[in-house]
Amino acid sequence: MQDIYSDPTFQMACDQFELVAEYLEVPHDLHDQLMYPKRSIVVSVPVRMDDGSTRLFQGYRVQHTLSMGPTKGGTRFGPTVTIGEVAALAMWMSWKCALAGLPYGGAKGGVYVDPRSLSGNELERLSRRYMQEMIPFIGPHIDIMGPDMGTNEQVMAWFMDTYSAYAGHSVPEIVTGKPVSLGGIHGRREATGRGIVYLVERAANLLKLKLSDGTAVIQGFGNVGGVTAHGLAYKNGMKIIGISDISGAYYNDNGIDIRAAANHAVTNGDLKGFAGAEPIPLENLLTLPCDVLVPAAVSGVITRENAGKIRCRLLAEGANGPTTVEAAKILFERWNELFVIPDILCNAGGVIVSYFEWIQSLQSFFWNETEVADRLFRALEQSFSAMIRRAKEEKIPHRLAALAIGVERVMKARKARGLFP
Ligand code: NAD
Repeated sequence: MQDIYSDPTFQMACDQFELVAEYLEVPHDLHDQLMYPKRSIVVSVPVRMDDGSTRLFQGYRVQHTLSMGPTKGGTRFGPTVTIGEVAALAMWMSWKCALAGLPYGGAKGGVYVDPRSLSGNELERLSRRYMQEMIPFIGPHIDIMGPDMGTNEQVMAWFMDTYSAYAGHSVPEIVTGKPVSLGGIHGRREATGRGIVYLVERAANLLKLKLSDGTAVIQGFGNVGGVTAHGLAYKNGMKIIGISDISGAYYNDNGIDIRAAANHAVTNGDLKGFAGAEPIPLENLLTLPCDVLVPAAVSGVITRENAGKIRCRLLAEGANGPTTVEAAKILFERWNELFVIPDILCNAGGVIVSYFEWIQSLQSFFWNETEVADRLFRALEQSFSAMIRRAKEEKIPHRLAALAIGVERVMKARKARGLFP
């Protein structure tokens, strides 16, 4: 097949799939059908800038698997977004939704843009025009959007408003992660970080690792990293000794005041100049000795070069694809000292609560935050136990166990539906 997805992140997702496919002995005729996206849409998004000029942005949407129900996935606005990266993220969404038992195939969207370089009005015009271009290809029972890096509740509100204006009535079920005032669900913003904290507690319990007074390091201080840091610090009493964002990495041996850091980031746009910690070289953050390490920013940060130097007891992968395939092999050799919660399980809280939000919007029947959190933890518990059981029974790494469950479920559905005509 000619590879329009050529990109290191897509290659990483494919290499990972190859390992699982070999392990599961996926039949040859299904192999490529499962790996390659079913549908990919590329659009040009013209936007009028504040100075009166017009700029053209490239937008993508990849719908990876159509066998499981509608597709579901976030939209990323970022300066490194490519169709290959979006395709990789869509593939991971398929395995993640299947592992969590959700009736969705994976999707992802993205725009190649640095959102920090746009004014608020430009961001709104870009968001609305991107959605407008996607209208022929999505729908509440076809493909449902959500937030990801570089997008937030406000962008989801613009998406929903644009789609609703086209439909002629409110269609809240077209997006998840929207503001509560527009039918968003309580606790969606916190869902991914809250899920990570739950799984860290669960794993610590298995390892008999005491979290209170333990240390944690978190890469990325946005939605996922920020909420995780808050939960580990204030719910579990952990000392957060290292944090980072796009502006750099910061360290404080006595523990960082996470509320102060969050206030600084909100006021200044990032952590630069935060007085409560010392700047350290970016590459030193992930190898700081700590109990819990949470990469919660970009993919491919744990590599062949630094995997042997990581000095945590528990690695909780908040980001999508933070660990390369070579690094995963090195981490597995260290399984005795390093417990991994792989990304497709660790950050699944976001899509699980998005699923609740979609149901809530379809039914116009609202849930409170306690119900949402309870159901989230129950869903994560099932996936966590299934992964641990399979890893033990088959003596395989957690990552392979989690992926095997996900890929197997998609394969079964694909086989049962057969090939048309
Ligand atoms: P966000 O945009 O809210 O925050 C991203 C953070 O990462 C920011 O602090 C940013 O400054 C930082 N960052 C960006 N590039 C960086 C770099 N090169 N080095 C260090 N830090 C960098 O995004 P988010 O929603 O928190 O998403 C973070 C990760 O979690 C992504 O990999 C995303 O795909 C994944 N994820 C998010 C959700 C969700 O519900 N938001 C769900 C599942 C997975």
